Amino acid sequence: MLEPELLTAAGPHRRRQLLSHLEALDGSLNALGGGLTVRSQPAAATIADLLAHVDASALYYNADYSAFARRRDGAVVKRLESEPLDVNVFHGNVVHEPGTVLTKAGSLSQVFSPFHRRWQDTPMAPWPDPGEARVLVASGVVLADLDTDGEPYQPGGEAAAWDRLNEWLEHVDGYPDTRDIPGIEGTSRLSADLRFGTLGARTVADVVGTHSPGRAAFVRQLAWRDWWAHTLAERPDLPSRALRPDYERIRWRTAPDELEAWKAGRTGYPLVDAGMRQLAQTGWMHNRVRMVTASFLVKDLLIDWREGERHFRRLLVDGDPAQNGGNWQWAAGTGPDAAPYFRIFNPTSQSEKFDPDGTYIRRWVPELAALDDKAIHAPSRLGPLELAAAGIILGDTYPEPIVDHKVARERTLAAYKRALG
Ligand SMILES: Cc1cc2nc3c(=O)[nH]c(=O)nc-3n(C[C@H](O)[C@H](O)[C@H](O)COP(=O)(O)OP(=O)(O)OC[C@H]3O[C@@H](n4cnc5c(N)ncnc54)[C@H](O)[C@@H]3O)c2cc1C
Repeated sequence: MLEPELLTAAGPHRRRQLLSHLEALDGSLNALGGGLTVRSQPAAATIADLLAHVDASALYYNADYSAFARRRDGAVVKRLESEPLDVNVFHGNVVHEPGTVLTKAGSLSQVFSPFHRRWQDTPMAPWPDPGEARVLVASGVVLADLDTDGEPYQPGGEAAAWDRLNEWLEHVDGYPDTRDIPGIEGTSRLSADLRFGTLGARTVADVVGTHSPGRAAFVRQLAWRDWWAHTLAERPDLPSRALRPDYERIRWRTAPDELEAWKAGRTGYPLVDAGMRQLAQTGWMHNRVRMVTASFLVKDLLIDWREGERHFRRLLVDGDPAQNGGNWQWAAGTGPDAAPYFRIFNPTSQSEKFDPDGTYIRRWVPELAALDDKAIHAPSRLGPLELAAAGIILGDTYPEPIVDHKVARERTLAAYKRALG
């Protein structure tokens, strides 16, 4: 069932990835003599419609915690009230179900570390019995009729997802050393599989285990993922309202040209530009660079974090209201366990530290490729001769910085101070 509202909200990368997973699923069902029934209409109507044609005794689905998903699932359950149907809901999108990892006082921890400790100590719910299934063929939209221009970010289907997980097992022990370096393949690239369910979070946690520091560090990230999902389950407004109410008083700037320059990867800060171009071209961005680009929008341009949240959510192949909303609130300092607002990333030092030889920048901002490893982080600091030697004309082949970081930092500190009293 392709919810029209979700399909429209998804940008080209997520759409393509979804359709390639569906094609693979259809292929697996074909091999069993069946096929995937695809309907593009709201869920409640689709299910009622299907029930008229299929002799079903039970409905199984995975819970999702966004405001939209709750409305959708509520409408389905309501529509089915009068049916003799056994409705079963699972929480397969997370390791632990929201509401099962709580403080002694019975609430969701507002700080990640204690949540993580309890999360580790919480026994996993037993796997449900797979049961018997009969594969049916029913009519619907033919997948080939849907818009699938271009290649997906990753090969679709469960088998391809398992290949990625198995490949990652050969590298996961090095994760603490590689995870922050965007110029290398130092992270798992499993986020889209977790997003679509081609791999379950529990499966990944189980298979990886915690028997080395690298594995434990990796599984800790899955706990972050659960934490944001649990937070969304409690606060469906996570993507749209500051969880710390005082932060709603911040007076954001309206600066459409700067917002557009950020989206296009033309801010004059090479690491920021590299990240934004990677996102636009592929639908994925390295986590360290997500943090830097998000911080740049909020703290250097003083533009409302919700503008960035919407842009990321549309374009990211792993875009998801819990993870995206939570991480944007973290970057803006408006959410739980966020760094204090006065800790502001310096985009140039972040670049020097995490992309020291400029590999990542050269890949995504090729007009700077001829600069040496030191100069590539801040072309605006170079003199005309050095720029000319690298074939760069500032303000023409590559932009001047759209903002002075030092000045912007002071402006942001003042705006946050004013809001927070
Ligand atoms: C501003 C911003 C927006 C983000 N938006 C999303 C989003 O929409 N969807 C999304 O899945 N992740 C999001 N992240 C988190 C993180 O950047 C990605 O999960 C990660 O980069 C995916 O790459 P990977 O699978 O190689 O990660 P790995 O480093 O291999 O991590 C393994 C898994 O742990 C989880 N994980 C890792 N880091 C985080 C984190 N900070 N928060 C929550 N889960 C995490 C992911 O499921 C990831 O696949 C965002 C981060 C920031 C700073």
